[in-house]
Amino acid sequence: MALECKVCEQANIDHSQVVMRCLDSPSWCGYYLVGFDKLVSPFHMAISDWLQTKIDAGKRRFIIMTPRSHLKTSLFGVSNIVHRLLRNQDERM
Ligand SMILES: [Zn+2]
Repeated sequence: MALECKVCEQANIDHSQVVMRCLDSPSWCGYYLVGFDKLVSPFHMAISDWLQTKIDAGKRRFIIMTPRSHLKTSLFGVSNIVHRLLRNQDERM
């Protein structure tokens, strides 16, 4: 039985797809859960995929260099943290 979600139902989107995307990517997590609607651009999705690949490989230290106003804090400082806590509520940062 599928979970009924009024928010997704009103927005006419698939709740299970939202859950899968949020668990899969910091960008989608920022988009759906935090409201950063620009984080799903191809540029940010590529950075998000790169970040997730490194984290999955056990890397813990990163440096990202992009000009200001390129949403580094939105992606790394907010969405990534929400994403990691969503995946593992016991994770320490
Ligand atoms: Zn929902």
